[in-house]
Amino acid sequence: MPGKLVTYVEVLVDVPSASHPYTYLVPAHLEPFVEPGVAVRVPFGSRPSVGGFVVEVGVPAPEARARPVVSVSPGKLLPPAMERLLDWISEHYLASRYQVYQAAVPAGLLAGDEPVRMQLHVDRLADRTPEGLTARQREVLAVLARQGQSMRAVDLEREARTTRTVLAALATAGAIRLERRAVRRTPVRHATEQPLCDLTPEQAAAVRVIQAGSAGAVFLLHGVTGSGKTEVYLRAISSALSQGKGAIVLVPEISLTPQAIARFAGRFGDRVAVLHSGLSDGERFDEWSRVRSGHADVVVGARSAIFAPVPTLGLIIVDEEHDGAYKQESTPRYHARAVALKRAALEGAKVVLGSATPSLESYHAARQGRFHLLELEHRVAGLPMPEVIRVDMRKEASDGNHGLFSRALRSALDQVLEAGEQAILLLNRRGYAPVVLCRSCGQAIVCPTCQVCLTYHRAREALVCHYCDYSRSAGPSCDACGGPVTRYVGAGTQKVVEALASLLPTARVLRLDRDATARKDSHHQILDAFARGDADVLVGTQMVAKGLDFPRVSLVGVLNADAALRLPDFRAAERTFQLVTQVAGRAGRAGPGRVIVQTFAPDHPAIALAAAHDYRTFAAQELDGRRPLGYPPYRRVVRIVVAAEHEDRALAVAARLQAALKDAGTLLGPVAAPLAFVSGQHRVHLLALTMDIRTTIAKTREAVLGNGDRNVKVIVDVDPLTVL
Ligand code: ADP
Ligand code: ZN
Repeated sequence: MPGKLVTYVEVLVDVPSASHPYTYLVPAHLEPFVEPGVAVRVPFGSRPSVGGFVVEVGVPAPEARARPVVSVSPGKLLPPAMERLLDWISEHYLASRYQVYQAAVPAGLLAGDEPVRMQLHVDRLADRTPEGLTARQREVLAVLARQGQSMRAVDLEREARTTRTVLAALATAGAIRLERRAVRRTPVRHATEQPLCDLTPEQAAAVRVIQAGSAGAVFLLHGVTGSGKTEVYLRAISSALSQGKGAIVLVPEISLTPQAIARFAGRFGDRVAVLHSGLSDGERFDEWSRVRSGHADVVVGARSAIFAPVPTLGLIIVDEEHDGAYKQESTPRYHARAVALKRAALEGAKVVLGSATPSLESYHAARQGRFHLLELEHRVAGLPMPEVIRVDMRKEASDGNHGLFSRALRSALDQVLEAGEQAILLLNRRGYAPVVLCRSCGQAIVCPTCQVCLTYHRAREALVCHYCDYSRSAGPSCDACGGPVTRYVGAGTQKVVEALASLLPTARVLRLDRDATARKDSHHQILDAFARGDADVLVGTQMVAKGLDFPRVSLVGVLNADAALRLPDFRAAERTFQLVTQVAGRAGRAGPGRVIVQTFAPDHPAIALAAAHDYRTFAAQELDGRRPLGYPPYRRVVRIVVAAEHEDRALAVAARLQAALKDAGTLLGPVAAPLAFVSGQHRVHLLALTMDIRTTIAKTREAVLGNGDRNVKVIVDVDPLTVL
C-alpha cells in the first residue's frame, strides 16, 4: 500500500524484568484500533504472546527490526480524563509515562487480560433428586443442603470428605450443577454502624458550604483535633452519591486502620472499595474492577488511590492533607494532594483538604482565596482542648534530673495508672540508642557507606543504619581501636520502654514504631490491643501521632519535642508544630486530657504555639518568615540531587546543570546535601526557586537529558518535601 505510514508503538509488557517500554510494529489491519491506553498482546523473547499496554503511538522506527503486535483488546484501560492526568504527572514530575502508568495501575492490569480468578461452585438442583444414588452420594447432598444448597466445590469436598469424581457423578445424575464463577477477592472488613449524630453547628455550616460549592471548588477544612472532620467527610460523600457521583477519600497509609475503614463501610456498606499496600494483587485488582464498573463508588485508600478509576467523580477528600506520606519518594515523585487538585480540575470534582495543622501551602492558598477556608474551632460534644504543659529540660538537668522523664511527666504517669486510664508517649526515634561510642577511644561507630552514626537495637543486639538499613552485630569491639566496651548515648523508643519498666514496674507497655510493625498486621494488632485496654502506655515514634481516637487516653507525653527542630530543612518548624499538635490531639478525646511536652526550647514558636493550640499565629509567623527568603509557598522549588561514587564527578555534573539552569529561577547550590553521603554515594544538590514552575521544569528536563555521565545519578524532585 504505497504512501501508507507504518506505525510503531511503545508497549509496556507484563514481564517483571522489562524495565522500559518496547517498540512494536502495528500490522495494517490493527491500525484503526491502536491508540494510547489499549491493551495488546505482543511477542516477547521466546514467548509468542504476553500482555501489554500501549503508551505511545507513532514513535520512530527502531534500529533493530520491530516485531508485530499480535492482537488488540477492545476497550481502554483508563477513562480519557485519567490519561490526561497521567500525562500531566509525567510532565510535571519528570517521569516517563511508563513509570507513571506503573505507579497508577495495579500490577496485573497491565497484562491486558484481566486476571479474574475462577472457582468451581456447586448448586443443588432442588426440584429433582434422582433415583439410584449411592448412600455416599446422598450424604454429600445432605452436607450441601445444610450449607444452603450452594457452596464452593473445594469446601464441599473438604466438609463431606469427598472428591471431584463424586461431584462429577452427581452432576451427571442431575442432582447438582457445577459451574465456574469469578471469585471476588474483596478484603475482609468490619463495618461500624453508628447512628447518625446531630452535627455541631460548625460541622453543619461546613457541610452546607461544601454542598453548595461549584464543580472544581477546593475547600480547606481546618478543624482542631477531635472536631469531627470525618463526619463532615461522610456527609459530603453522601451528597455526592445522591447526585450520582463517586468519591475518593485519601488517608495516610498508616491511618488506614480497620477502625477507620469501618466508619466508611458502616455508612456506605458495599459501595466502599479499599485500596492500600497490604492488599494482594488479586484483591487490588478486584477492588479496582468494582470501582471501574461503578459497583463501588466510594474509594478509601492511601496515596495511590488517587488513581482509582471512578467513572463519574464528584468529590475527592484528602484527610490529614499536611502528611508527608502523600509524597512518593521514588519516581514518579508525585504528591497525592497535588494530583488530587489536578484530577478534580480535569473532572470537575470538588476537593476537601482536611487537617488540624494544614500545610502552609494549602493555608496560603486559602488566605489568597484560591481555596475556601472552613474552620472547626471546637471539639465535638463540648469537650475542651487538652491542657498542654511545657517542661524545660534545661531546668530539669540543672536540678539534677538527667533521666528521660521529667518530674512532671513521672507524676502524671503515676496518676494515670492509679486512675486506670491510658497514656501515649512520643519519642520520634526508633531503636535503643542513636549513638554508640567506643569507651576506649571515644570514636562513634558509623555506617561504612553513609558515615552516619549507627543506632543500637537491643532486641537484635545489632547496630543499624537508619538510612540504608546496613546492620552489624553489636559485638563488643570498636572498629577503630579494637577496644572492648561500647557506650550507648541518647535514647530511642526501645530505651523508653526499658526505662518505664524500672520506673513503673506494674505498667503494661506497648511499643509502636517501624521495628515493632515490621510483620504484616502487627500495626493493627498493637493498636487493637491498646484499644482493648491490654496496655496502659503506648510508646512510639510519630506513628502514635496519627489520627488515633482512643477515649481512655488522658495523658500524652512528648519526650523530646525539639528532635526535628534543628534539622537543616526550611520545614523543620512546621513539622515540629504539626507533630506536637497532632500527638497532643490524642489526649482527652472523651474526657479531660493533659499533655506534657519536654523540650530544651520551650519558647520556640513551633512549641509554644502548639502548646497554646494557636495554629493561626504560628502559620502567620512562619509565612512571614518564609516570604523574604522566597521559600514555598511563595515560590516553588525544583530540587536536583546529583549522586556519584566520586565526589568530583558529582560536582562536575552539578556545575554543568547549574550553568544550564541559570535562567530557570533563583539557584541555591550546588552544595553538598545535608545527607552528604548515602549508600556509598556522595550527594550534591541544587535548588531552583521559581515563580514559573513550568518553565523551570522544561529547562530542568533539557538540562538533565544532557547529563552524559553514566556513573552519575541525577534525581529531580519537583515540589520536594524534604531537602536533606
Ligand atoms: P477529627 O478527625 O476532627 O480529629 P473525628 O472525626 O475522629 O475527629 O471525631 C472525633 C470523635 O467525635 C469521633 O469519635 C466521632 O464519632 C465523634 N463525633 C463526630 N461528630 C460528632 C457529633 N456531631 N456529635 C457527637 N460526636 C461526634
Ligand atoms: Zn548506611
